[in-house]
Amino acid sequence: MRRTMHRRRFMGTTAAASLATLAAGAADPRPAGDRKPIAVSSGNGLRAVEKAVELVKKGFDPLDAAIEGVAIVEADPRDHSVGFGGLPNEDGVVELDAAVMHGPSHGGGSVASIRNVMHPAAVARMVMKRSRHCLLVGEGALRFARAHGFPEVDLLTDEARAIWLHWKETRDPKDDWLPPPSKEVAAHVDEYINKRVTGTIHCSVLDTHGDLGCVTTTSGLSWKIPGRVGDSPILGAGLFLDNEVGSAGSTGVGEANLLNCSSFLVVENMRRGLAPKDAVMETLKRIAQTSVRDPRRRRDDGKTTFQVSFYAVSRKGEFAGGCMYPGGKMAVHDGDSARLVELDPLFEK
Ligand code: ASP
Repeated sequence: MRRTMHRRRFMGTTAAASLATLAAGAADPRPAGDRKPIAVSSGNGLRAVEKAVELVKKGFDPLDAAIEGVAIVEADPRDHSVGFGGLPNEDGVVELDAAVMHGPSHGGGSVASIRNVMHPAAVARMVMKRSRHCLLVGEGALRFARAHGFPEVDLLTDEARAIWLHWKETRDPKDDWLPPPSKEVAAHVDEYINKRVTGTIHCSVLDTHGDLGCVTTTSGLSWKIPGRVGDSPILGAGLFLDNEVGSAGSTGVGEANLLNCSSFLVVENMRRGLAPKDAVMETLKRIAQTSVRDPRRRRDDGKTTFQVSFYAVSRKGEFAGGCMYPGGKMAVHDGDSARLVELDPLFEK
């Protein structure tokens, strides 16, 4: 009981400090323009697109709006793929990756393998605004966040720790870790063990002036090798934008995007005239073509072994998403209302 109260008080203080640092990096709003805003996000981003559109309608910068939107998911302990409550690496430590890009200035910033910070996307914005660098990693990223007043938080929730512990205890029957009797293990814990948990939130925003901002933030692959960095904090891989063209981002197995500069490719496809839907599908085809050269990524039927999804919006306000296999979803706010839509797959199965 005492522990819970301490934890609550701690969380309350931390949440307030986190909100303060979120606000600290943001630009002053300007009068709203007359264009209809658009926000697209991964399937876990319905609240993010609602928040982002609410803010750009008030004249907030599109990147600041996207960061505020994804901050809701970063702080949500129920989402085990992002921020607080994210599943940890194989040592039981939560390591986060995040990146941002800002259309009007073509600025970008990112942090990788950062620990103990609830809002890595806001730290990435600080890297963009308050350093001459684009990417800070690990201990250096944490020290930079501390210097800017970001509070430190234990990101490993009791639930995420229980899931990790069960993974650890059931991994190798020959090691010395023993699982508890199965009736003591909640069904949902088993579910997490049976599939490799992936997940991330990307959000791209087109504001009322036609300016773009985007963010991708994640705890990365569950049980990753400590220090593993995915695509999310790599500009051009997990997200990319060009204010004259459009914005794109991704979720799914990050190595495929690192090997294909995939988000850059989506934007470049739009630059050469493709609609967002075709720009995404061409990128998925490229990934499929290159990935199957690696036997570890090729199924017996010659298709890829993994899922990857894209979300894109053009400067003109067209938007689309797509994924390698059915099952992906996208959250969209078209300026009037928010909804979840199924992503179009490249392959049916
Ligand atoms: N793209 C993320 C990574 O590779 C994971 C995910 O989106 O599921 O770290």
